[in-house]
Amino acid sequence: MSEGTQIEQGETIIKHGTDDPEVLDRRFAADLNPPDISEGTGIQGRTSQIRDEIQKVGTSTFVDVEPHPRVSETVRVPLIKNSNRLLILLSKPIEQVRTYMDLVRLRPYHSPVEETRLGIQELDFRLEDYYKKLNELMGSANLQSQQVGEVEYKGKKYSMYNISRVFDSSFPTMSVVTAIHGNEQAPLLASLQLLRELADNSSAFAGVNINVITPANPIGADYNSRYNGQGYDINRDFVRFHTPEARIIRDTLNLTKPDIVITNHEAARPKTFVGGLMISDSIKDAVLSELRRQNITLGRSGFLGIPLEEEGYLQFGKAFKTANALGSLFDTATLEWYVSRNHIPSITIETSCLSSDQEMRVNGQLAVISGIVSSIGKI
Ligand SMILES: [Zn+2]
Repeated sequence: MSEGTQIEQGETIIKHGTDDPEVLDRRFAADLNPPDISEGTGIQGRTSQIRDEIQKVGTSTFVDVEPHPRVSETVRVPLIKNSNRLLILLSKPIEQVRTYMDLVRLRPYHSPVEETRLGIQELDFRLEDYYKKLNELMGSANLQSQQVGEVEYKGKKYSMYNISRVFDSSFPTMSVVTAIHGNEQAPLLASLQLLRELADNSSAFAGVNINVITPANPIGADYNSRYNGQGYDINRDFVRFHTPEARIIRDTLNLTKPDIVITNHEAARPKTFVGGLMISDSIKDAVLSELRRQNITLGRSGFLGIPLEEEGYLQFGKAFKTANALGSLFDTATLEWYVSRNHIPSITIETSCLSSDQEMRVNGQLAVISGIVSSIGKI
């Protein structure tokens, strides 16, 4: 198609009827560089004035708008700060939800991973030393001990024991399951003190048959992990018993037939609390008064910071049972739930693993046990 011009009412209209790039280039050049109009009066002078105005406007509009230090200070920095804050605000709850999700799952990992997000304070604990002291205690004439199982990880074998004083059939029996979560160290240290008292035939724990199943999660204890060698949470495995540890605990409890089960734990909470399932008021009151007598500070909130009805005490009620019943459909339920299904009451001890006060954490564990003994002991 060729370019053409058409005269219409005294105006020149250029019809853009060409595809020729050279012609187009020339036309645009003509538009951008109008024929030189010399300074003067009349239409020519006016055109020159307009051109100057356009240049001024052009300068102030297009040159000054380029990045300006004040713009970046007042607009960009807060934007970046706010978006960072927003990311932090969003990432915190996401991380918390992920952490809490790990706490309810049967097998969150495939190895005994260490928990680093909750701020758990490590105590003076080494599994090797623990076994050494345990072996010394097992040599005591007053204690009976039995290896109830052995688990293996990376070629290393770990024993699990059931240790007790000689049973008196007229006494009630209390089974203590020690540190089913391997990174909760106060229960392990407390078990050594408890067994020492039992070996010495101390009157503090008289009138009750006490057997201690320990360590309930030796691989976790070795790797400072909540989980066993395959990344299972053993205390979520009381439905189908995938883990050897859960099977060993179950079989030992079936042999000892306890009247009450004590599960020793620690929680990432600032203060100590105790959970009770099918527990009488007299046992609960004895436990709380013994904790107070030993100056253990009791929490006003329990798991996830949920407020407690009574200071230091969480009555496992409908919510606990419903959660476990639902969880059991997906293979996930706790030891406490399992023993309650067998009509055995239980107490869950939760000292604060956020505290670096080793003595307080260990004493809290022992206070609960002696509180129960004072309530059910037959002396
Ligand atoms: Zn625990």
